[in-house]
Amino acid sequence: MSDIIKILPIDVSNKIAAGEVVQRPSSVLKELIENSIDADSTKIQIIIKDAGKNLIQVIDNGKGMSKNDMHLSFVKHATSKIVKIEDVFSISSMGFRGEALASIASVSMVEMESVNKKENGNYIEIQGGELVSEKESNIQEGTSIKIKSIFYNVPARRAFLKSDFVELRHILDVFHRLAISHPKIEFSFINNEEEIFYLKPQSLNKRIISIFGEKIRENLIPINESTQIANISGYVLKPEFSKKSRNNQFIFVNSRYIKSQFISHSISSSYEGLLKDGYHPGYFLFIDIDPSKIDVNVHPNKTEIKFDDDQNLYSIINSSVKHCLGIYQVSPVLDFEKNPSMDISYNQIKSQPVNPSIEINSDFNPFEIFNDSEPKKVHEDFSDFNKDLELEVGDNKHSKIFQILNKFIISTNKSSLIIINQNLAHQRILYESFLKSIFDNTINSQKLIFPIELKLSKKQLLLYDKINDDFNSIGFDISIKKDLMIVKSVPYGIEKSDVEEVVENMLNEDFNISNDLSTSDFFAKRLSKITSIKSGQKLNLDEQEYIVNHLFSCKEPNLSPDNKQIFITLSKNDIEKKFNG
Ligand code: ADP
Ligand code: MG
Repeated sequence: MSDIIKILPIDVSNKIAAGEVVQRPSSVLKELIENSIDADSTKIQIIIKDAGKNLIQVIDNGKGMSKNDMHLSFVKHATSKIVKIEDVFSISSMGFRGEALASIASVSMVEMESVNKKENGNYIEIQGGELVSEKESNIQEGTSIKIKSIFYNVPARRAFLKSDFVELRHILDVFHRLAISHPKIEFSFINNEEEIFYLKPQSLNKRIISIFGEKIRENLIPINESTQIANISGYVLKPEFSKKSRNNQFIFVNSRYIKSQFISHSISSSYEGLLKDGYHPGYFLFIDIDPSKIDVNVHPNKTEIKFDDDQNLYSIINSSVKHCLGIYQVSPVLDFEKNPSMDISYNQIKSQPVNPSIEINSDFNPFEIFNDSEPKKVHEDFSDFNKDLELEVGDNKHSKIFQILNKFIISTNKSSLIIINQNLAHQRILYESFLKSIFDNTINSQKLIFPIELKLSKKQLLLYDKINDDFNSIGFDISIKKDLMIVKSVPYGIEKSDVEEVVENMLNEDFNISNDLSTSDFFAKRLSKITSIKSGQKLNLDEQEYIVNHLFSCKEPNLSPDNKQIFITLSKNDIEKKFNG
């Protein structure tokens, strides 16, 4: 018997949460690739035009369909993957709701060709859910589905689609997730006639490198932990490779990409103390778990999941990640049962314990700090003692400007005291000057004596392609040679050592640019954030004066580019009130 698709009994179909499958081109692509994977394909080709708005085609070498099955595949709740409700809870294939093709076909024009071992190949054409033509086809293996003009019959939804740039980002996200979770499948991806990915069957580690670029290689730490509840495997990224965005976070449960706040939280907390503020760890975490212990059907898009035993899973993941970070000698925490007072570094436990000793400096004179001859030394001796109490008086103690806590600049004017946040102030100064040079076309850039070469991933290259004008307009001089970015000049004010981070940041950030006008603004904001003087940085008097003077010649000195208050003032009145109550 070659027909295998059955219509679900109505009670079963009703129990399966209904949901909108087709939100945008990327959701269509996801369903099509998942179907190809379920059909045991070893080779999948993806062809996209105009970010999927005009064509999404998936060609596979899977088991294919009979003529009858091709027809049935477009009927709602028609699936070959489940026959009774219990199957929903033990399902291990990607699809099972039997509504993807039906939903997709109802809002687009579809052409499908398929062949299975028992019959000749067939071709059918469906428009808005109606069969419009069918004939024999000489397709040699598997299935090819073309989705043309998505939402052609729902103009409101079509108008709702974002720019090609944004839609393509969604498509690439979907592609990355599926390609990473199926490294043994060969993928090729053609976008507007150009092959942007060719991935041969490979190990997980090679697959990650093929997608994200060579640089990620040395940052991958393998994770492998088998427990009664679940098996954890994959890679976590070294803390040094953490990013300001969460783009490098991938969680797969039984090879299916999912989003889970509690798992993300569990992993992030394993990195506690290892990351700079505002940075997020990267990981490719695979959780294998008995399918009957999870419910993948809580969300119509199947990216959310419910676990029976989430508390135990939380601690298993948390300690597995800590463990592998520890093995690679990057974790300061040895004790997996977190007890903050007991934290010792991994290196420390290897060395012999030493008796504690107290050294007393008999020359110490607490009043020396006021002695001009050697004020620094005393300060340095105590600088590690308690950073928060550190109060740094400017180089010139008669100055009206000074820095406190390595974070704020105190200044005065005629009648008030002004406390300026150095980081936010510098962001404002840089932001206005970047914007100015973008709009005036007065590029302020510095030539690098030795150009910097950076290897870019495909995704980064693609992004760069879209926004290279903006890079130029702020003072970068960049050329691209294959996957190498050669940076010859950089905007004035960017240190050579920052270039890599700046470029990475620009090409990794979640771009949500709805129109071109905001691109320059976005760039200026990002750049000013990255290159600004940070909190915790000691400033000399010249630097403090520079900040104060330039801040108050800005157009909008009160607010940072992200609308945070830059300074507070205490007027004479405010101060007097404090004393008089
Ligand atoms: P589901 O995947 O949930 O079963 P779909 O609407 O996505 O529902 O697909 C309906 C049926 O069509 C599948 O169960 C499968 O039998 C068949 N099918 C879809 N795509 C393919 C493909 N690429 N190769 C073989 N069979 C396919
Ligand atoms: Mg499916």
